[in-house]
Amino acid sequence: MASTRRPYNFSAGPAVLPEAVLRLAAEEMLDWHGCGMGVMEMSHRGREFISIAERAEADVRELLAVPPQFRILFMQGGGLGENAIVPLNLSRGERIDVVVTGSWSKKSAKEAARYCDVGIAASNEADHHTTLPAPASWQLRAGTRYVHLCSNETIDGVEFQELPDLKALGCDAPLVIDCSSHVLSRPIDWSRVGLAFAGAQKNIGPAGLTLVFVREDLLGHALAICPSAFDYKTVADHGSMYNTPPTYAIYIAGLVFQWIKAQGGVAALEARNIAKARLLYDAIDRSEFYANRVAPNCRSRMNVPFFLRDESLNEAFLAAARERGLLQLKGHKSVGGMRASLYNAMPLEGVQALVDHLNDFARRHG
Ligand SMILES: *Cc1c(COP(=O)(O)O)cnc(C)c1O
Repeated sequence: MASTRRPYNFSAGPAVLPEAVLRLAAEEMLDWHGCGMGVMEMSHRGREFISIAERAEADVRELLAVPPQFRILFMQGGGLGENAIVPLNLSRGERIDVVVTGSWSKKSAKEAARYCDVGIAASNEADHHTTLPAPASWQLRAGTRYVHLCSNETIDGVEFQELPDLKALGCDAPLVIDCSSHVLSRPIDWSRVGLAFAGAQKNIGPAGLTLVFVREDLLGHALAICPSAFDYKTVADHGSMYNTPPTYAIYIAGLVFQWIKAQGGVAALEARNIAKARLLYDAIDRSEFYANRVAPNCRSRMNVPFFLRDESLNEAFLAAARERGLLQLKGHKSVGGMRASLYNAMPLEGVQALVDHLNDFARRHG
């Protein structure tokens, strides 16, 4: 069956998935592995789905080299849900510190303040979220229960290239990272992390699934008001099946994990992601026509916001992009301009096609 190339989709999320995964899921839609049921129709407690969930968990553990003292939870509620679920489980209603580096960490601080005393350890707001405050400058309070940061700010396009070593800063509290928009694009240094969470809809699979990686010693301290279905210990004790998990999303995530393994794992994808990001940032930086405002050493490999110097051309730029099969390049409404998200499933050829468009459009309108 001949198939034409699909357009390149630069959405920030929900986002592009590997075509091979979508085709396999389509093939298996009515009958998974000859069992006579589609995955959406199976009991989450049946042996078919249990095998799907166990394989998905084992594969993501292997891909990210997650140490045995971390539990991996398949939850619901998304990134914003975790902004409440983390303080409900870890804050003990006392104090926590948040490093504000963009829109997402700002939201995390605001939501946590409903449950505990939130300190802003540092903020790049004065720089319009285009830099990252050096860890040595962070104001971490004695007795803080955890330190929260967003390791890749999806809207602002800043990314921590290295996670901070809180112990070296004299802080014994666990680090919590929201890694929703760059999970599996690079390795995670688990020695520096107590808890990591990621909504699935950027680099993992469909919306509706949230992955939580939590160190075992952090379980069992939830506030009394924490809903049982969101108590990490309850979820962990029931193997993420305390209530019905998002079964189809877990299945697709599992197919994505298998796809990543077939690509050579996270290290291979990281090398590809570095090449993709360099190609696009170089094209933007070389041109007088476009600009990215983020400090070069803080730039995200996954989310690249950029602006046309002449913003009256924005609509024409987007229309011409759509015509060449380059979709969802409009920037977030709070930032404006354009944004290209270069998640794992975006091939280098897609970024090259975008760069060709940048150059052609600038030539025609420059
Ligand atoms: C997309 C995203 C979220 C998403 O939250 P939802 O509740 O799933 O919409 C949270 N944090 C970051 C960094 C994100 O990129």
